[in-house]
Amino acid sequence: MVARSGQALSPNARPAAFFDRDGVFNVDHGYAHKVEELEWIAGGPQAVRRLNDLGYLVILVTNQSGIGRGYYDEAAMHAVHDALRAHVGQAGGVIDAIYFAPHHEDAVVEKYRHPDPPDRKPNPGMLLRAMRDFAIDKERSFLIGDKPSDLEAARRAGVRGYLFEGGDLDAAVRGILGETLKQQAEKPPEVLHHQRSQTLLALACVLLAMPLAIMNFIGRIGLLWQLLEIALFGAAWIITRRESKRVVSSRAASKGQSSPT
Ligand SMILES: [Mg+2]
Repeated sequence: MVARSGQALSPNARPAAFFDRDGVFNVDHGYAHKVEELEWIAGGPQAVRRLNDLGYLVILVTNQSGIGRGYYDEAAMHAVHDALRAHVGQAGGVIDAIYFAPHHEDAVVEKYRHPDPPDRKPNPGMLLRAMRDFAIDKERSFLIGDKPSDLEAARRAGVRGYLFEGGDLDAAVRGILGETLKQQAEKPPEVLHHQRSQTLLALACVLLAMPLAIMNFIGRIGLLWQLLEIALFGAAWIITRRESKRVVSSRAASKGQSSPT
């Protein structure tokens, strides 16, 4: 089940920061469902804003078996999520999507009873659905949770998982972003190889299109060759544009990391 706002699918894959909720954004007193009892953990709004600014999707994946167990209903959970969005919004942060897993094998509410709910962490269902709903770059994505089951869900979904043991969430995120950039920096041959390949591909398209353009200019080619010429120039333009966007995005990430606020 999903409650969403913000951006939908994008043609360009973006990294995602997946977060557990209880024990990460709010102190986990057990089955939190009353807005007035929420106790925020420091740094949550700043962490979300930082990730927004760096182009990350911010996605919550939260087990909510309290709904299946009959402790509270979905409306109560949505009220908590509204409060969380408002709290994060104080720093200008935006949560792109919230996925929740209300099912449990011992649920008293029959519609929520399931022997092994695919969405319930440590199962990766919520993350996998997010990856279908959004264009996500798994390699640059990560999850932050406070339990081993969170990290296991991340592992099963193929993203890095980090255990949050309390303190300031923004400080934890800054550390993870630093590690991510370090990992990327440790792979320059691959990156350079990719950039070289893209440049050569664009150049090849232009070189193939040029003779056609000349023949077109002197009126010696038919419609099919004209279309091929347009397609080749178009492909070169798209490849160049995509690559320049990638470079701008990685520069923005480096800038954000070098001057944390
Ligand atoms: Mg938790």
